Amino acid sequence: MGIVTHNCDILIVGGGLAGLSAALAAVKSDKRIVIADLGGGASSEVMGFCAPFAPDDSAEIFAADTLRAGAGENDPALVNRLCADAVKMVRNLESLGIEFDHKQDGSYDLLHPVGSSFPRVVHHQTTTGKVVMGKYRELLQSCANCEFHQVRIVKLFTNNGQIAGALGFEHGEPIIYNTPAVILATGGAAGLYSFSSWTKILQGSGYALALDAGAELTGMNRVQFEPCVAVYPEKLYSFPIITTLLYEGARLLDRNNQPVVIEPLPKRELALRIASAIAAGKGCEHGGVWFDFAQVDEATFQRKYPQYYHKLRPLAEDFHQLRIEVKPAAHTTLGGIKITPDGATGVPGLFAAGEAAGGIHGRDRIGGNAGLEILVFGHTAGHTASSYPASSDDISKVATNFLARLRSGTGNRDTFILRLGKILDCYCGTLRTDKRLAEGQWQLNELAAGLADNPPRTLEENLLCRQSITVAEQLMRIHL
Ligand SMILES: Cc1cc2nc3c(=O)[nH]c(=O)nc-3n(C[C@H](O)[C@H](O)[C@H](O)COP(=O)(O)OP(=O)(O)OC[C@H]3O[C@@H](n4cnc5c(N)ncnc54)[C@H](O)[C@@H]3O)c2cc1C
Repeated sequence: MGIVTHNCDILIVGGGLAGLSAALAAVKSDKRIVIADLGGGASSEVMGFCAPFAPDDSAEIFAADTLRAGAGENDPALVNRLCADAVKMVRNLESLGIEFDHKQDGSYDLLHPVGSSFPRVVHHQTTTGKVVMGKYRELLQSCANCEFHQVRIVKLFTNNGQIAGALGFEHGEPIIYNTPAVILATGGAAGLYSFSSWTKILQGSGYALALDAGAELTGMNRVQFEPCVAVYPEKLYSFPIITTLLYEGARLLDRNNQPVVIEPLPKRELALRIASAIAAGKGCEHGGVWFDFAQVDEATFQRKYPQYYHKLRPLAEDFHQLRIEVKPAAHTTLGGIKITPDGATGVPGLFAAGEAAGGIHGRDRIGGNAGLEILVFGHTAGHTASSYPASSDDISKVATNFLARLRSGTGNRDTFILRLGKILDCYCGTLRTDKRLAEGQWQLNELAAGLADNPPRTLEENLLCRQSITVAEQLMRIHL
């Protein structure tokens, strides 16, 4: 029996908010759209996103803040698009019935992300991502030209340099898509690290897929480490504590109860300070520093951060004695697939959006800018892809031959990923030096050689491990 084959006009890989936004923009055309998604992305965790609504704020000041945080490594054209479209995004969502929190005077209840000139994060309680995803999925499920497939895409095929199709796996069985357009909305690679702020599902497959198809990556050496991710108590392990709380009186204290920072800093600097304090032997019992609530007003915390309050409050009898041990964890990939402001890559038919795309944040990302990026560039990529001229090839023979050339062995993917994660944690973490990276690259080469000698048991796992090596190599590059 042949491999199951689907024909579509646009294949969207990833069903987080970037993928769903792209789909929502594209369904307005008569194109047949498939969203291939494994679920478990970071979009459900988006608490809110940036929009310049504070009285003296503007798209220009917002753009200047974003460029400053990016230290000149961001693409100004992408930044301008991001910041110019922010208010429009909020209005669009409101027109779909999404309600953002307001203060008593009727203005938006804006949170202040570190590194931002003004309070700027609009939010629906702390569940903006979940609520918007729910609404987008509901709208897409009623569209006759859009289907959801629970498929992992492992390879893109090109013909004469243009996208021609994709190969995926559904419950271990290969599946082929003939499609002239692919939008990569696969999220980031933080899940490749052992200690990360979110699930292991996000291992940067989109970067490897794009590179293999001939697209360019940019800024892959820039990984954002969420500064304050819990290491203790154990039941909070890997749970990120939101840094806007540092504007509400929360403090970071070392093992001697000395402040690690005097004032809230941009996330990158904050993570560096914490990692440096730990490296200097000032860490606490579980390898982190204290996130201390002694000077936070309980009522304000409860009102502004109800989900956090619900989760954290039971951890201490007296609220003012609440302390959580935290350290930086790999969080978001700041670089990614190089795109134009309309979401196109250098490969005809290949588009990218969300954390899979690069060039927007540069060296550091202001909190709330990822939530905005996925909405703005998801929408843009969907819109651009829907006007891409569609003419499909039949790639089934090429895909079948590709599979036939792959080998399987007795290797174990879980063990492989665990080793890879430890290498990244150890050599490609917050404190990044050329020497450490070179040592990490050597370890990675050893791991890759082992993989080539004895691949995992299935072809799908073999492809995934190879992708992981490719992505880790990109993250470890010393000079780009
Ligand atoms: C804990 C946490 C909290 C955050 N809070 C905020 C916040 O408050 N504000 C903010 O601006 N940003 C925040 N961020 C960052 C933000 O959530 C992400 O950058 C953003 O959600 C990425 O969205 P995305 O659509 O690009 O990818 P995701 O939402 O991660 O979705 C990617 C999807 O692609 C699928 N996928 C991946 N590879 C494949 C493949 N090969 N085949 C098929 N499917 C695939 C995955 O299963 C997943 O469903 C947070 C991140 C985390 C981890």
